[in-house]
Amino acid sequence: NLQQPHGDQLPRYVRVNTLKTTVEDAVDYLKRDGFSYLGQACRLEDLSLKDRHFVRDLHLPELLVFPPKTDFHDHFLYKAGHIILQDKASCLPAFLLHPPPGSQVLDACAAPGNKTSHLAAVMKNRGRLFAFDLDAKRLATMSTLLLRAGVTCQQLANQDFLKVDPDGPQYRDVEFILLDPSCSGSGMVCLRDNSSADQDKEKARLSSLASFQLRCLNHGLRFPRLKRLVYSTCSIHRQENEDVVAACLQQNPSFRLVPLLAQWPERGLDPLPQCLRADPTKTRTHGFFVALLEKHSEAEDGKQ
Ligand code: SAM
Repeated sequence: NLQQPHGDQLPRYVRVNTLKTTVEDAVDYLKRDGFSYLGQACRLEDLSLKDRHFVRDLHLPELLVFPPKTDFHDHFLYKAGHIILQDKASCLPAFLLHPPPGSQVLDACAAPGNKTSHLAAVMKNRGRLFAFDLDAKRLATMSTLLLRAGVTCQQLANQDFLKVDPDGPQYRDVEFILLDPSCSGSGMVCLRDNSSADQDKEKARLSSLASFQLRCLNHGLRFPRLKRLVYSTCSIHRQENEDVVAACLQQNPSFRLVPLLAQWPERGLDPLPQCLRADPTKTRTHGFFVALLEKHSEAEDGKQ
């Protein structure tokens, strides 16, 4: 599809790792390195950059935005873990969950760990961050990434999240969960496949992913002290996004959706406008979906 921007036409997003530096110091370093800083972006159009210009993002305070294809893989700030190369949409889950320093947090499907390292930064490395993944190789990559990022509050386990016992004594104080389960990846611009692949196969794959995602979501809500859970996918399919969340809310009436970022331009599909969607045209990111579920407080339940 020639109308859709390709992956390499999206801005290069750089998350400043506040465990190692500050946005101000990173900006100063980059200016001395020959980039020219245009200040804080105010509109989406300000994210269309060229010629070594860069800005601070309009929605996410720790995000810097560069022209497409700017390569930081050999840059000192990247190698030293001061910056993380992460698409803007994928920075939303940890930013929106916002666990306070000192809290107990669980990242259910965590590898390779960019969102885990973002959570640790939000927590200022204080508290405990349980992170699970089924894939040992991806978990090994994640250990390296977390080491480079200076994360110290994590407890990694090569384990099936669906087999983690929510009533286990070590999880009794978990109040925040980030759930970013395996999905079709249909939002990744570079992976988009417009060929008419076997449609029956694709349907079966989506429905098996959606039922896995719903099981994970229901499992997450079973942690006894849970306050908030953020659910995200890099899928553009309603079946893996709004449909999963709607089914889960129906099965768990003590949870409700938190309305997210009023100023974000793309909302969840009807009837879930509280959720966010992202895509190359409307948000200049890969395709993405985020929902934030919150437990009704007992005080409020008493009033009802
Ligand atoms: N959150 C990660 C990040 O930001 O870097 C990306 C996660 S990726 C979309 C999904 C991950 O879920 C994969 O690494 C996969 O191995 C893992 N996974 C799949 N099934 C799982 C399960 N039952 N329990 C734990 N992890 C699982």
